[in-house]
Amino acid sequence: MRVVVLGAAAGGGVPQWNCNCEVCRAARGPQPELQATQASIAISADGEHWFLINASPDLRQQVIATPQLHPKPGHLRHSPISGVILTNGEVDAVAGLLSLREGWPFTIYAHQRVLSVLKSNSIFNVLDEKRVRRQPIEFDTAFEPVLPDGSPSGLEILPFAVPGKRAWYLESAPQPESDEPGDTLGLRIADKRSGEYLYFLAACAALTPDLRQRLQDAPLIFFDGTLWRDDELIAAGLGAKTGQRMGHMAMSGENGALAALADLGIARKIFLHINNSNPVLFPDSAERKAAEKSGWQIPSDGMEITI
Ligand SMILES: [Zn+2]
Repeated sequence: MRVVVLGAAAGGGVPQWNCNCEVCRAARGPQPELQATQASIAISADGEHWFLINASPDLRQQVIATPQLHPKPGHLRHSPISGVILTNGEVDAVAGLLSLREGWPFTIYAHQRVLSVLKSNSIFNVLDEKRVRRQPIEFDTAFEPVLPDGSPSGLEILPFAVPGKRAWYLESAPQPESDEPGDTLGLRIADKRSGEYLYFLAACAALTPDLRQRLQDAPLIFFDGTLWRDDELIAAGLGAKTGQRMGHMAMSGENGALAALADLGIARKIFLHINNSNPVLFPDSAERKAAEKSGWQIPSDGMEITI
């Protein structure tokens, strides 16, 4: 199975258009290597047909930067993209669908709650349902995404509930604090032939006992790297919400990802969805050194992994 990190950053990317924090200023100026697009990965069992995990607002730029996703030579119209699996209904996860509107057939896989968000926003009708199928997926029910001709992809994906929160634009709806299942999915993604697998958890508010058990001895995980500390946005004067309030557990602290995932025997740990406020983005920072010492990797856009 091949995996490409299309984007490593959280919402807004690095730099964020209206942000002058330390990381954003550096990314705009002396350290352009800090630039990163919004979180998404692409996966493939055969190296030819690819599935996107979420469609970020930066998808067009990500496709241009990723040779694996370019049209095949000799075809006037073609895309290796066979499907998109959505883990939530946030703008960060769905806005890129609008960049896939030029008539190429593919399938959108999402929980019914996320599909209903697409359904109720008529702008997504640019994706003609005759060509772009919308396939509901269920918790704890594995599925095999299919290629445009209906043949099996060789991937098996198991969605499961992850502690999170509702999409922010749904928060004003009744019962704003009630987290209904379907708003945040984690994925176990396996290559059916080799049995190799990875976990994708770009948003996770807490490591529950159930989740600990699930991740035990995993060969590879992509995990929520939004914030270094829970009060990061408040401390930097960038916002009023804690990480917990936004459905993200921090990297540091007693209950942070570094500590919580330290003793689970996970072979390779990669942070994803890293906010531009997070000092771990600076390669020379103490925070980066601490993360790396704990066995974590901070990816760059375009990084490919074969498992
Ligand atoms: Zn910033």
